[in-house]
Amino acid sequence: MDVIEIKGLKIFAHHGVFKEEKEKGQTFFVDISLEVRTRTAGKSDYLPDTISYADVALFAKEVFTKKKYSLIEAAAENLAEKLLLKFDLTKAVTVTVHKPEAPIDAEFSDVSLTIRRKWHEAYVSVGSNIGDGEQLIADAKKKIIEDKRNIILKESHLITTKAYGKTDQDDFTNGFFIVRTLLTPEEFLHDLNRIEAELGRVRVEHWGPRTIDLDIIYYDDLIIDSEQLTVPHYDMCNREFVLKPLMEVAPHKRHPINGKLPAELLQDLQNNS
Ligand code: ATP
Ligand code: CA
Ligand code: CA
Repeated sequence: MDVIEIKGLKIFAHHGVFKEEKEKGQTFFVDISLEVRTRTAGKSDYLPDTISYADVALFAKEVFTKKKYSLIEAAAENLAEKLLLKFDLTKAVTVTVHKPEAPIDAEFSDVSLTIRRKWHEAYVSVGSNIGDGEQLIADAKKKIIEDKRNIILKESHLITTKAYGKTDQDDFTNGFFIVRTLLTPEEFLHDLNRIEAELGRVRVEHWGPRTIDLDIIYYDDLIIDSEQLTVPHYDMCNREFVLKPLMEVAPHKRHPINGKLPAELLQDLQNNS
């Protein structure tokens, strides 16, 4: 990836744990690297095809001074997030905050923090079998993008399927979203759970009827196995209602563990049953 970089951007701001730091302020230096594709601008020689570093510098100064933070961690996190949202050609950003006047009782030349943040892709399977499935799925989508850090990249057509696992219940409406997100997997799951609750999801029995179910199938190519979260979804390869819409929205996306495409996973499933 190409990198646009600004180094040593001098900003007077009021971040610090101590009261005096928040009152008096001090000088910070900020380095910013934006990972972007510059090939188009390289060929067109036309400013609107790229990100103007002048705009980045001005915007960074504005964002960095808007609020007083105790920690440079918080100031850097906020700046990285705002840069990714503002300059949407940016795939990833690295921010270093230098605080050479930090109140440390020793001689030193600099203290700094560097963070890298990027856009991710979350693959979300959605299902509903109580109420108006089409409406509930539309509502879920609307709620997901109420957070500006989520953008719907693709959505599948909706399909009607027979209930899976516990089969003595109404048919399901199923669909699939790919979401471009700045949230971590845990934050994203937390939001999906909140949205399920807001749309009337009550957990009575496992695999029972539900107004809405939002499952994370993939998150980038990450493999996660924590108490709250298993990604790729543990049972996705056994579910046509996941694989069919996945094949529609991401035919070239390989399963991060077995390397198979959606069509291959679907073929395996149909061969086995
Ligand atoms: P299944 O997980 O077999 O599809 P379900 O969707 O009905 O069944 P839920 O009651 O919705 O199960 O989820 C129970 C818990 O599963 C959630 O609270 C969540 O913490 C956890 N979980 C683990 N991995 C995932 C994932 N990839 N996506 C969503 N939830 C997950
Ligand atoms: Ca589920
Ligand atoms: Ca679920």
